[in-house]
Amino acid sequence: MDVSTVYCPGCNHKVRLTITPEHGGSHANLPDGGSVVCLDFGEGCSEGTCPLTGRPGMVMGVRLAKSHLPHEARMLTAHCESCGLVAEMEVLDRTHAVCSLCESTNEYVIVPVDETHAIAVTRS
Ligand SMILES: [Zn+2]
Repeated sequence: MDVSTVYCPGCNHKVRLTITPEHGGSHANLPDGGSVVCLDFGEGCSEGTCPLTGRPGMVMGVRLAKSHLPHEARMLTAHCESCGLVAEMEVLDRTHAVCSLCESTNEYVIVPVDETHAIAVTRS
């Protein structure tokens, strides 16, 4: 994996960028080109536009979640509106998470159950 470290004016620190083939594998011979993935995508990045790629920050978060590259991620477990299963989801920000089973983006809300517990509930 080719990783370049560049300064990100959005995060105000250095981030690691890499290029992934779009879902390689069986489609490897399609001239897909790669997409830039930021390995240091953070929750604050989902707002506005990524200054390094010019893409919406949310797109960068989804790309990272789908890339299956090693990165730090917060996970939650919730019912996926898209595949209908209870799945692990990678948290993009306070309201969005990507299903690890079908790779759909879900909107979620955290509902407190009692003083120390909360559950994530998706909404369509
Ligand atoms: Zn799903």
